Amino acid sequence: MEDRYAFLAEWYDPTAALLRRFQLFFYPKDGSVEMFDVKNQRVFLRRTKYDNIHQEDLFMGNRVNVFSRQLNLIEYGDQYTANKLGSKKERTLALIKPDVVTKIGDILELIYSSNLIVTKAKMTKLSWSQAADFYMEHQSKPFFNNLVQFVSSGPVVAMELMGDEAMSIWRKLLGPADGAVVRREVPRSIRAQFGTDGIKNVAHGSDSLAAAARELEFFFPSTIGHCPSNTAVFTDCTCCIIKPHAVSEGLTGKILNSISEAGFQISALQMFSVELANAEEFYEVYKGVVPEYSSMVNELSSGPCMVLEIHGTDVSKTFREFCGPSDPDIARHLRPATLRALYGSTKVKNAVHCTDLPEDGVLEVQYFFKILDG
Ligand code: ADP
Ligand code: MG
Repeated sequence: MEDRYAFLAEWYDPTAALLRRFQLFFYPKDGSVEMFDVKNQRVFLRRTKYDNIHQEDLFMGNRVNVFSRQLNLIEYGDQYTANKLGSKKERTLALIKPDVVTKIGDILELIYSSNLIVTKAKMTKLSWSQAADFYMEHQSKPFFNNLVQFVSSGPVVAMELMGDEAMSIWRKLLGPADGAVVRREVPRSIRAQFGTDGIKNVAHGSDSLAAAARELEFFFPSTIGHCPSNTAVFTDCTCCIIKPHAVSEGLTGKILNSISEAGFQISALQMFSVELANAEEFYEVYKGVVPEYSSMVNELSSGPCMVLEIHGTDVSKTFREFCGPSDPDIARHLRPATLRALYGSTKVKNAVHCTDLPEDGVLEVQYFFKILDG
């Protein structure tokens, strides 16, 4: 029998101002989808081939875009789907420590090549007391003060990693904490490759599922409340969005590496799931001007994107040039070393958005890091 995955999904219907529930079915064999209206008990969308959904996108809490409808996946629809797709899925916290924040691209590459995906990310700077809270369990250890001092000494990047056995896979990738031990015994691990010593050891990984739940809540609270704030500076800056298609293709590490290698300074970084209405608002100036407007809106709201604040004097123009012409095919001809030439496929799926006009840099950065991260 053909494989069929089932999900319960919610869609906010703006016309009726109602949350509607659907069963969403996905057929991996041909990538087709089908929707069933739960309340009215009828077929809502007949089985149709749809190229923009992939099996990797189908996990709890994710938002997927089906024919311009943003669906929140809230439950597996049957036991078969839960067993097949959900049983070993875990979430864990990876915290990139201040010594290696500029190596984030390399670290993401290693994460993706271990079949984990990054579902949340936020660059933040912890105060002494926030760092002490986070490392509470080590309060009585002799290295506690040094550890807290180090972790609060500069920006860190908190990430939620998801995948089969995510917690142990990430800890295995990291290797043991001790600098001498890790270099001697696990020379290919992240800590051996990028670490300095027992304290400056690249990153943290939760050591149990309970710890993961607590630590994820610390950085990404499930209810509105206090959480460590982003690091945007809102001056001399431009906005870069790594688009959802590039995030889901696992290109974030490569793109961040290219940006850093070109000498640009990333002063804020955060992943956002942009609501359709917010995508419309963000792209408002292109409405009626650019024929791709509605496709651009759909792309931006089709899944998580990664937003960067790039900081520097007159950075807007140089960063735009570095992104290249908006059409990747043209970019490949004229400017083959640009981000869009390297990582884009079409005018809409062109890997990155960058601010057009220098005077809009601060506004676009504010839109994400002040309004949406409010
Ligand atoms: P891990 O980070 O692998 O979970 P621990 O939970 O044991 O390791 O320790 C937390 C952090 O405290 C380590 O990552 C390291 O930065 C620091 N640390 C641990 N042990 C020592 C030590 N003996 N000397 C200095 N720092 C240490
Ligand atoms: Mg630990």
